[in-house]
Amino acid sequence: MTTKEHPHSISISHYDANKSFIDEKAIWAAINNAAAPSAEQVRQVLAKARQCQGLSIEETALLLQNQHEQLDEELFAVAREVKNTIYGNRIVLFAPLYVSNHCANSCSYCGFNADNHALKRKTLNQEEIRKEVTILEGMGHKRILAVYGEHPRNNVNAIVDSIQTMYSVKDDKGGEIRRINVNCAPMSTADFKVLKTAAIGTYQCFQETYHQPTYESVHLKGKKKDYLYRLYAMHRAMEAGIDDVGIGALFGLYDHRFELLAMLTHVAQLETVCGIGPHTISFPRIEPAHGSAISEKPPYEVDDACFKRIVAITRLAVPYTGLIMSTRESAGLRKELLELGVSQISAGSRTSPGGYQDSEQDQYDAEQFSLGDHRAMDDIIYELVTESNAIPSFCTGCYRKGRTGDHFIGLAKQQFIGKFCQPNALITFKEYLNDYAGPKTRAAGTALIERELAAMSPARERNVRTCLAKTEAGERDIYL
Ligand code: SAM
Ligand code: SF4
Repeated sequence: MTTKEHPHSISISHYDANKSFIDEKAIWAAINNAAAPSAEQVRQVLAKARQCQGLSIEETALLLQNQHEQLDEELFAVAREVKNTIYGNRIVLFAPLYVSNHCANSCSYCGFNADNHALKRKTLNQEEIRKEVTILEGMGHKRILAVYGEHPRNNVNAIVDSIQTMYSVKDDKGGEIRRINVNCAPMSTADFKVLKTAAIGTYQCFQETYHQPTYESVHLKGKKKDYLYRLYAMHRAMEAGIDDVGIGALFGLYDHRFELLAMLTHVAQLETVCGIGPHTISFPRIEPAHGSAISEKPPYEVDDACFKRIVAITRLAVPYTGLIMSTRESAGLRKELLELGVSQISAGSRTSPGGYQDSEQDQYDAEQFSLGDHRAMDDIIYELVTESNAIPSFCTGCYRKGRTGDHFIGLAKQQFIGKFCQPNALITFKEYLNDYAGPKTRAAGTALIERELAAMSPARERNVRTCLAKTEAGERDIYL
């Protein structure tokens, strides 16, 4: 099994899990105080954002309420600049693996809700998991996001077993999954300790909406009804030693300004109490799901223009946090969002258990929501290379070298990402090109690698060329 080399201990300050750290009144006061800002105020905040030091809640509230359309382009330009300074043109790729759509909760926006009796329920057995992983490895994937409904079948031991199976599968080219992130229901600290033994990458859990009254109105039954238990999930995960966590809000349930400011409050709270902020933030937007009326017409629908602003503003507010975009979004929009700050995308995804091996018809009966981007992984990679000049990265180096949690964020803050991430992106992309790419992607990708090498310092170029030559000669899993 893949292991981390340097487990860190996390020191947690006292917190009161019976009291929300989201102060609804204070968030609305921040929104109201920053209403209708002048162009000069907006430009002042943008100037500060260029320093890559992040933004306060007040400054973020101001950007969120800019009404000068001509300043949108300036916002996007600063977001592109900050993204480039910190992340360069790498984009990390992963695929979700839906293990189980059995769920005892009833979230009114989700196709897996327990009241959706038309859904074909399935929990993959170990053999089915092996088949799914083999297909994902055959596409070239090295990172998986394992997804589970909340159900007694998906208890922590079952989750750990499934992850161990995923790590154990190798394809005929020696391809393997090197990092498994997990999106499952929050658990007790004791269970999180068990989950940690499976050598997971990021533990991911979205609050959905930080607005408690809305939260209570859309979670109709099951354990997920408990707002506070979910709100403190990451505190418990950190207590259990999981130092790499991902948060998110499901856009469309409540006012997007409130959700974003509350999410930043969550970031600040984790930094204060646990000493480490989240590794990633996700931006699911409600997609139509069979068996969910609310998903057809979300109460606070966020249109594409607003969504682009949300991503750009988040990039400026938390410049060092990874931003994740899923296949929920269309190909065209994802391309724009990449430039504005997204650092990880899913590719070639299916959202039903067994979806990679099943016929299309079966998938629709078991999927969570409809996808916006149906293209194959190699087509997505070709487009990333040729149209976005992006380096698709399959790197899992930091996690396996123990550069996670505060260590990872510390490195990022010193802008050292280029030291490890850029070389590792090129080396793992070269693996992809040799083992899995179609001819035109291989040609375009090889040219991209040469362009990137030409832009490096001579010492770094020599170092990376040595690793690329070893990869060409058949060595695999090289990382700095
Ligand atoms: N059951 C676990 C939970 O709810 O935390 C994890 C799996 S759940 C399938 C993962 C995420 O899917 C949820 O946190 C929610 O944000 C997202 N989701 C649910 N319904 C959705 C929809 N109709 N469109 C987009 N995302 C959705
Ligand atoms: Fe179940 Fe998660 Fe879907 Fe809610 S969002 S119904 S908990 S799978």
